[in-house]
Amino acid sequence: MSIEIRTYGDSVLRRVADPLTKIDAEAKRIAEKMVEAMIRANGIGLAAPQIGVSKRIIVLDLNGEFHILLNPEIIETSQESEEIVEGCLSIPGVNAEVTRKLRTHLRGITLDEKPVDIEGEGLMARAIQHEIDHLNGVLFVDYLSPARRRSLLKEYHRKQKEKDE
Ligand code: ZN
Repeated sequence: MSIEIRTYGDSVLRRVADPLTKIDAEAKRIAEKMVEAMIRANGIGLAAPQIGVSKRIIVLDLNGEFHILLNPEIIETSQESEEIVEGCLSIPGVNAEVTRKLRTHLRGITLDEKPVDIEGEGLMARAIQHEIDHLNGVLFVDYLSPARRRSLLKEYHRKQKEKDE
């Protein structure tokens, strides 16, 4: 059975996800499903709420190497930002320019319960910030001006409708 990626309008995407209190078989199962869904969707990152699980788990594809991070936190970011076109697997078919920090330092826990640090720059820093946002119920469209957001979501809904027809 394929794993469905939740899309815009699904309330799970707006919830603040819960931290994991223990790393058990269930957490491993969720993480495996997330990696599978990310690969199938050709994404470079995915957050648990995107498969309907309101838990603080993200997966990242760092140049073909998969990282599973539990309870991840951004502990440092650069002052410098950059504006780049960005999209989201949960809002497929539309993109917009979003300003994000150029570099981030992420800390999380692996499935083996080991602390892990990842320093990302450019695209990876962007993916990290985007996925952490998902854990806080934030979507990239939230950074757009109201007018830009309206027109982007209009385009998104039109494309979704076309796809369903
Ligand atoms: Zn996303």
